[in-house]
Amino acid sequence: MEIYADLHMHSCLSPCGDNDMTPYNLVQMAKLLGYDMIALTDHNTCRNCKSAEKIGNEIGLTVVSGMELCTAEEIHCVCLLPNSDTAEAFSAYVRTTLPPVENQPEIFGEQRVMDCGDTILDTEPLLLTTASSISVDALVPLVKKFGGACFPAHLDRASYSLLSVFGFLYPELQFTAAEFTPQADLPPYLDAHPLLREMRIVRNSDAHYLENMLEPNEPLPLRDCSAQALIDYINGV
Ligand SMILES: [Zn+2]
Ligand SMILES: [Zn+2]
Repeated sequence: MEIYADLHMHSCLSPCGDNDMTPYNLVQMAKLLGYDMIALTDHNTCRNCKSAEKIGNEIGLTVVSGMELCTAEEIHCVCLLPNSDTAEAFSAYVRTTLPPVENQPEIFGEQRVMDCGDTILDTEPLLLTTASSISVDALVPLVKKFGGACFPAHLDRASYSLLSVFGFLYPELQFTAAEFTPQADLPPYLDAHPLLREMRIVRNSDAHYLENMLEPNEPLPLRDCSAQALIDYINGV
């Protein structure tokens, strides 16, 4: 099946995510734009995924629970989990690996946990944009233990990307997919890093504002429109 998907976006739970990026608004917007599937990937947390998943179920959009994890090396990686319950368990684990730094909403932005409407259930006290103590080498096996899949985010960006931090890819990381921004010119990267030729390449919006959400572009060839089909695709199964 051809599935139109955006696998990287932030809700109002990310301090840098706009307060209008409620699960309700972003799921409705994705549906309006014509997506079949989205993944909600807040920084180092999955606490808004259950609400987004429920809204998706109601309106017929597959919402995959995810997270943009910041590794110990300050490399952003998108993690995708099979369902919101597993995502909450993964999120609780990642929380234990974050430094005990409190959010300062007036500096970094609010971190809102929302219900399926637009009601604020809680605000996350721990600053979510710090680096976890999880090493990038340990990430693929860790996420697989939770039944999920992961890929390094925005490889063509000058900060918080695997290539900006290490300068190269190596097979021991076990990544089977990689993300580029929608604007990236891919051929030079494929020439410089031949390992990429064996990997699934995805491009996502990384939207933090409703107006950053993009029209669907290249569809993913998935066997069906489920989180499991997406995870198997990213894992190269
Ligand atoms: Zn990022
Ligand atoms: Zn992001």
